[in-house]
Amino acid sequence: MSKPPVLAEIRRADYRYRCSRCGFCLAVCPTYRLEPLEPGSPRGRLALLNNIAMGKKLSPAAGLFLDCCLGCRACHSVCPTGVDPAREVRAVRQPLVNNLSGLVFAWIWRTACRAFVPRPGRLAFLLRILRSTHRTGLSRLLSRLPFLGALGARLDAVAAFLSPTAPLPHEKRPRVLPATGREKCRAAFFTGCIMEAALRPANDAAITLLRSAGCTVIVPPAQTCCGALSYHSGDYVTARKLALENLNAFALEGPFDVIVSAAAACTAHLRSYPDLFEADPELREKAQGFATRVRDFTHLLHALQPHLTAPSPGRVAYHESCLLRHSGNPGALGEVLSLVAEVEPFPAPHLGCCGSAGGYAFRHPDVASALLDAEIGALCGTGATTVVTDNPGCLLFLRYGLTRHNLQTRIKVQHVAEYLNKGGTP
Ligand code: SF4
Ligand code: SF4
Repeated sequence: MSKPPVLAEIRRADYRYRCSRCGFCLAVCPTYRLEPLEPGSPRGRLALLNNIAMGKKLSPAAGLFLDCCLGCRACHSVCPTGVDPAREVRAVRQPLVNNLSGLVFAWIWRTACRAFVPRPGRLAFLLRILRSTHRTGLSRLLSRLPFLGALGARLDAVAAFLSPTAPLPHEKRPRVLPATGREKCRAAFFTGCIMEAALRPANDAAITLLRSAGCTVIVPPAQTCCGALSYHSGDYVTARKLALENLNAFALEGPFDVIVSAAAACTAHLRSYPDLFEADPELREKAQGFATRVRDFTHLLHALQPHLTAPSPGRVAYHESCLLRHSGNPGALGEVLSLVAEVEPFPAPHLGCCGSAGGYAFRHPDVASALLDAEIGALCGTGATTVVTDNPGCLLFLRYGLTRHNLQTRIKVQHVAEYLNKGGTP
C-alpha cells in the first residue's frame, strides 16, 4: 500500500538525523521567545513532526504548537544543519486542522484565496465589506455569539486588521511606463493583490521612484496574486495555479532585465516558485528562469543609487519583513533609507516578527496580538515618529496595532516607497 504523501514527505526528510538538537534556533524563534516552551520551539516542532512520521497521533495541544509556527524561517537562517521547520510544518498544516471552527475558517480562507484575492475588483469589494463589518461593530457582535465559537473571533480579527486602511477602486495601469531620464534598466513590475487593492499609492510611489532613477517599468496586465497566502496555508493546488498564470503573464512581456515588486512577501514567494514544480522538470526550469530575475524594490532602487532628499523631520524606524530578512536581501531596507543623507534610520525592535505572517493573525489572533503588542510597546520607547516597512502585511498589521493603542497620530506607518517619494528625487 502506498504511503500518504504527507507521511512520505516527512520520512524523506528524516529529522532524527538532521536536527542535532544544538538549540541555536531557540533564541531567534519568535514563538519561543514569547513563551519559552520546548514544543513551541523549532527543535520541539521537529520532534513533533518526527512523532507524526513514526505514525503517532498528535494531541490537539501538540498540533496547536505545530500550527503556531509563523513560517518566518528565522530558525532556518541560523541552523547549522540547514533544517527548515517552516517548510515541513506547511506540509502538514491542512491535516492538522481537525476542529469544526478551524475547518470552517480554513474553508473560508481557501475560498477567499481562490475566488476573491486574485481578482482585483472582487478583492476590493471584500475588503470594503470587512472594513464596514468592523466599523459598524458587526464583527465584534459575531465574535460574541457562542455558537460561532473561535470562528467569530477569527472573523473579527480579519475585519479589525483591515479596518484602518481604506481599499481603493481598481484602475488598470498603463503597460509601459518609460524611464524619465536615460534608461538604465527595464523592470517588469509585480503589483501584488492586497498591495494593489489596499496600498495602491505605495505601488504608484515605487513606480515613480524607479522611473526617475532610470528604470523603464513594464506592468504585465495578465499577472495575478503571487499565491503566497494559499501556499502558506498549505493549499498547493491554488498556489501552483496562480504561479503558472504569473509565469505565463510575464513570459508574454519583453524584453526586461529584472522582475521587481514593492511587496516583500510577494518577492520572497516569487523567488520560491521553482519549489512548487519539483515534480515537473520543464515547469521547474521555467520557474527557475523567472525566480533568478526577481528583485526586491529596495534592493533595485539601492542599486540604481538615486539622489533622495529627506521626506520629513523625525526619528525613523524600519521594520524588515521576516521573509525577506531570512530568505532574500537582509539589510536592503536599511540600506535604501541610508541613501537619504538627512535620515538616520534604526531597526524597529521586535521579537523577530510582528505577528502578521500571511493569514497567521487570523488563525492565531492571540499569539499574533502578543507579538504585535510587544513591538508597539518597544517602539514607543524609541521615540520613533515614523515606521517604514517594505511589506503590505506588516504595514497593515502595525497600523492596526497603533490604532488599537490610540497611537496612530504619534507614530505613522508608511511603505518605504511612499516615504521616500514624499521627499522627491531632485
Ligand atoms: S538549530 Fe537546527 S539543528 Fe540546532 S536544534 Fe535548531 S533545528 Fe535542530
Ligand atoms: S519558522 Fe519562525 S516561528 Fe516557525 S519554528 Fe522557525 S523561527 Fe519559530
